[in-house]
Amino acid sequence: MATQHEFKTEVKQMLDLVIHSLYSNKEIFLREIISNASDAIDRARFEALKDTAVLEDDPTWKIKLIVDKDAKTLTVRDNGVGMTAEEVEKNIGTVANSGTKHFLENLKANKDELPPELIGQFGVGFYSAFMVADEVTLLTRRAGDKNAATKWVSKGDGFYTLEATTKETRGTDVIIHLKDDETEFLEEWRLRKIVKKYSDFVEHPIAMDVEHSEPVKDADGKDILDENGKPLPPKTTIVEETLNSQKAIWLRSKNDIKKEEYDEFYRHLSHDYQEPFETIHWSVEGQAEFKALVYLPQKPTWDMMVQDNHPHGIQLYVHRVFITDSCEQLLPRYLRFLRGVVDSADLPLNVSREMLQEARALTIIRKNLTKKVLDTLADMQKNAPERYETFYSNFGAVLKEGLREDFENSEKIQNLMMFHSTALADDKRTTFADYVKRMPETQKEIYYLTAEGVANAKNSPQLEAFQKKGYEVLFLTDPVDEFVIPSIENYDGKTLRDISKGDVDLDTEDEKKAKAEERKAAEETNADLVKKLQELLKDKVSDVKLSNRLTDSACCLVDAEWAMSQQMQRMMKALKQEVPDVKQILEINPDHPLIGALRGVLAKDADSPKLADYAKMLFDSARLMENQPVDDPREFAKQVAALMAESLK
Ligand code: ADP
Repeated sequence: MATQHEFKTEVKQMLDLVIHSLYSNKEIFLREIISNASDAIDRARFEALKDTAVLEDDPTWKIKLIVDKDAKTLTVRDNGVGMTAEEVEKNIGTVANSGTKHFLENLKANKDELPPELIGQFGVGFYSAFMVADEVTLLTRRAGDKNAATKWVSKGDGFYTLEATTKETRGTDVIIHLKDDETEFLEEWRLRKIVKKYSDFVEHPIAMDVEHSEPVKDADGKDILDENGKPLPPKTTIVEETLNSQKAIWLRSKNDIKKEEYDEFYRHLSHDYQEPFETIHWSVEGQAEFKALVYLPQKPTWDMMVQDNHPHGIQLYVHRVFITDSCEQLLPRYLRFLRGVVDSADLPLNVSREMLQEARALTIIRKNLTKKVLDTLADMQKNAPERYETFYSNFGAVLKEGLREDFENSEKIQNLMMFHSTALADDKRTTFADYVKRMPETQKEIYYLTAEGVANAKNSPQLEAFQKKGYEVLFLTDPVDEFVIPSIENYDGKTLRDISKGDVDLDTEDEKKAKAEERKAAEETNADLVKKLQELLKDKVSDVKLSNRLTDSACCLVDAEWAMSQQMQRMMKALKQEVPDVKQILEINPDHPLIGALRGVLAKDADSPKLADYAKMLFDSARLMENQPVDDPREFAKQVAALMAESLK
């Protein structure tokens, strides 16, 4: 008895969009279904290494395309691991995985442009069958369990039925009933072409019954003639033909592989529709023996940016046998944007998850892979700087996480980092090395400022004294910078210094001596004002000081040396973390006319009520300059209006 079920809302929405919005390049549905079949075989083969019962006396693996022109169905049959009834419910229909949500968001955002090729990237490839089908039937039986098979049927209309049934062979049949205008997918030439294009590298044979016709000859190779003296019509036989070459591209020599082949294999691996940004193919012999083919993608995908996502980027093979695509030992997290294959000759075929955790071979591979990728990036940075900047703007934020994770390669990663800076146009970036080269002799430290963007950073009053000295300041604009920069103690022996924290001391000993008198005088002249401001603003700032930072602005807010930066506080708050309420320090510029005028007001009437208003405005304008909100914008606007009215009188 078939029971009826309803899809989860997200799945329904997705199906609706797949059926009604994706028109171009529908052929990729076959790639997705074949890819699932191939995965299912990989899993069965892996299980069979431990338990031969899974094989059910048939140790061969095959994917078969079966065409029925009368019924208008294309069946993709595999003898892989299959699914139990619960697995069918879980995998196909009820549970919407996280990819579904992301897929929906992307699809809605790019309604007309999103290429359907993307569908596989989100882990919802199975549903792409509904681009060409008006009904899909899934017949499946778990390998090793001969008694319980499941039939799943859906028209993609929001519902599906489930029914217990029987099935001779292990694995899954996906029976695609084609829409009337999609029957081209029943044609042999069409299927051949699609398989060749997308699935040529699939390691298991993708077979199809095809008609072979042969001229009828006698023993001497001569035509046999009919009663009219004409050659007999050719004899047609049905033969099963394997459509894909099954070549493991990573095992072949680099020189024999065309760019198109590399690109196609990348698409097969990554389900990305673009070509790879960079292809790295190498082999290692000696202490460890393995072959690796690794790609950098053009653009990050949604899952690459998430820290907690397990790296699924690299597939591990042992002697061409797929072992796993979620081997954390193989790839450091900060390289999780890589896609590729590693084939090891040093691991036993029946390697278990537990063994993988400890395998020394993997540690060696990981080291070598990391080195190879970092070296390739360093080469690119040197020889193709613009190309490297493209890479860096896409993946730099992830790469930088390596500073906290991989101390061994810390220096290499530092050299790969790029920064906007006061010395460059807004869209250009520099390295630590070039920064150091530009440092004037008097400059001892590397200066940086964290900000929410280059434009914000460039406007910061904190920069004034540095610019006057001709000292370049790097802008750290990635949120992750706050977490990773503290891992760099110094670069090339030079300390990294956040210019928004602590006291600024840029003068040389001689300059200090020369300025000492002046400074002392300023301290004295401003002592009353500083005291007054401290009093008036005691709820808002931890201290008021004369500034060494400012040349043009009247005031600015800075953090104590030990305090959490404002940028970090904003980030923690966005993450709903508790942030200790630490007040900032207000620095005032004693040479600024406004500060001079305030001294005048104070001298005239120490109890003037205006002083409290001006103190607040000073504080609020410092907040605004740091791109931070003022406590009471309406009050601030009122005060500005009053001031303007007064000055326009
Ligand atoms: P993905 O393959 O990216 O996970 P799909 O929507 O294509 O997403 O498939 C969902 C799940 O259904 C798969 O992860 C797998 O567990 C299961 N599945 C699909 N096709 C098969 C198959 N031929 N044999 C066994 N399981 C399958």
